[in-house]
Amino acid sequence: MSEEIVNTEATAAAAPAAAAAKAEKPAARPFGKKRFESRRKVCKVCAEKIDNVDYKNFQFVKSFTMESGKILSRRITGTCAKHQRQITKAIKRDRNLAILPYSLPKK
Ligand SMILES: [Zn+2]
Repeated sequence: MSEEIVNTEATAAAAPAAAAAKAEKPAARPFGKKRFESRRKVCKVCAEKIDNVDYKNFQFVKSFTMESGKILSRRITGTCAKHQRQITKAIKRDRNLAILPYSLPKK
C-alpha cells in the first residue's frame, strides 16, 4: 500500500515538469516551420546585365564549371534557362579552342 502511494506521488510530481517541457518544445521549433532560411538564387548573367555570354570572356564562363571541368547545372548556380544555354555553348566553344579543359584528373 505504502509503495503505491509513493509511486502516485512520484508521478504527480513528475507530471508538471513533463508538461512544462512539452509546452516549451513547440515554441522552440513550431511544427511545419522551415529549419533553415533558403536564399533565393539569382542568375549571375542577369545580375551583371550581360546581354550575351561571350566565349572570349572565359574567366566569367569558367565560374560556371566545376574544378574538374564539368559544367555546373542550373539547379546549383541558379542561372536562368536562356543564359544557361548561352553558357554551355560558350564553355563548349572554349573547350574546342583549348581555353577551358574538357576534364581534369582527380587529385
Ligand atoms: Zn539570366
